[in-house]
Amino acid sequence: MTTHDLINPATGAAFGSVEHVDAAAVDDAVGRAQAAQRRWVRSAPAARASALRDFAAAVDAHVDELAALEVSNAGHPVSAAEWEAGHVRDVLQFYAASPERLSGQQIPVAGGLDVTFHEPLGVVGIITPWNFPMPIAAWGFAPALAAGNAVLIKPAEWTPLTTIRLAELAVHAGLDPDLLQVLPGPGAEVGERLVTHPGVAKVVFTGSTVTGTRVLAAAAPGVKRVTLELGGKSANIVFADCDLEQAAATAPYGVFDNAGQDCCARSRILVQASVYDRFMELLEPAVAGVVVGDPASRDTEMGPLVSRPHWEKVASYVPDDAPVAFRGRAPDGPGFWFPPTVLTPARDDRCVTEEIFGPVVTVLPFEDEADAVALANDTVYGLSGSIWTDDLSRALRMSRAVEAGNLSVNSHSSVRFNTPFGGFKQSGLGRELGPDAPLAFTDTKNVFIAVKEK
Ligand code: NAD
Repeated sequence: MTTHDLINPATGAAFGSVEHVDAAAVDDAVGRAQAAQRRWVRSAPAARASALRDFAAAVDAHVDELAALEVSNAGHPVSAAEWEAGHVRDVLQFYAASPERLSGQQIPVAGGLDVTFHEPLGVVGIITPWNFPMPIAAWGFAPALAAGNAVLIKPAEWTPLTTIRLAELAVHAGLDPDLLQVLPGPGAEVGERLVTHPGVAKVVFTGSTVTGTRVLAAAAPGVKRVTLELGGKSANIVFADCDLEQAAATAPYGVFDNAGQDCCARSRILVQASVYDRFMELLEPAVAGVVVGDPASRDTEMGPLVSRPHWEKVASYVPDDAPVAFRGRAPDGPGFWFPPTVLTPARDDRCVTEEIFGPVVTVLPFEDEADAVALANDTVYGLSGSIWTDDLSRALRMSRAVEAGNLSVNSHSSVRFNTPFGGFKQSGLGRELGPDAPLAFTDTKNVFIAVKEK
């Protein structure tokens, strides 16, 4: 074990530490998880449902504590962090129904009875990023446990605390301590061991597309099941016929939420040329109004970036000669503060094509629907996006033409626990959330029972 310091992003100062495990600890955890999974899956469906409901109740009783941890560890504004902890509770409650509902089919065949079973995979590895540690962990562990699996989670190096606490709350609620284990440590050692370990049946990886392709390649020799939730560069498409005031007023929320460290960030605003100037006039005060500051304050809408290295990466997209249209305000250091920034670059600028993952948005004009579709789809990513129009036919045409897994019309919402979430193209593979999520943690078995004729 090695000790890893944790930095408060709002102050830049160390505020705690975490013990990192090594590859040998992963091997040990897999063995214990396999034994716990066998016990879990043998227990009655009602008992598993009840255990998940108790886990949800334990999370509910600790929302404030979990939120405070995320404020210090990830710099999330406290109101957002409370929503995230409450979301974990909701996700657990939603999937607590699954153990008693997950059923196969009886299929009409000749000569006997044919039935299908959804068998749990066994041990599932979940690798999470630092931007939304709690929700992303829960999107994996809640349906995986509900489908009868054990779970090992490797949180991101910078933000492990809430994941560790959630696993403690699971034990507090009565779950077997080996059923949901947290393995903090470096991706290259602990993450890779999880992906290559023969006892791990499936990996759910959320992170960058670069790392995701490595995970996919490492999982291939073992034909491991893989779900990938990767990067994004989503478009916010604003047509002249929409409620322009509303589109401009909400655009900052669509991209600066979580300081732009959001895979669904609408980081490319595309505006119909005929209303471009008016939209920019409306956007400027909306951006200036974003309250950036102390994440512990209830007034704060945007906190700092997660770390010094990430701050440097984001800053590299806004050099001194960058085409800055306007900026919001942010505190001076210490801490990793970056102001909401609006750029008006050329269509092929790297800040238009690459995921910045910070509070930086580009605004480009487009001519007509065909131009909007071409611009929106001119990316390797396909995660999310918004379409602003009051024309229902246009909304439907655009919704079908934009290549993305999660679109909103006249809204910036992306995530609901009961609707499927995931990416097109290089934004991912497979889906999380929604009613079918537990099925992704099972293999379907078909059994034919011959019936003797009298
Ligand atoms: P990252 O890819 O650097 O790291 C993600 C996780 O993978 C971390 O836990 C890391 O330790 C681990 N890891 C690193 N190397 C590994 C390896 N070789 N094998 C196994 N695991 C390894 O990503 P990040 O910087 O933590 O997160 C930001 C990225 O995550 C952005 O691209 C963002 O768009 C994406 N993201 C996607 C979604 C989604 O649902 N699509 C959600 C949140 C974040």
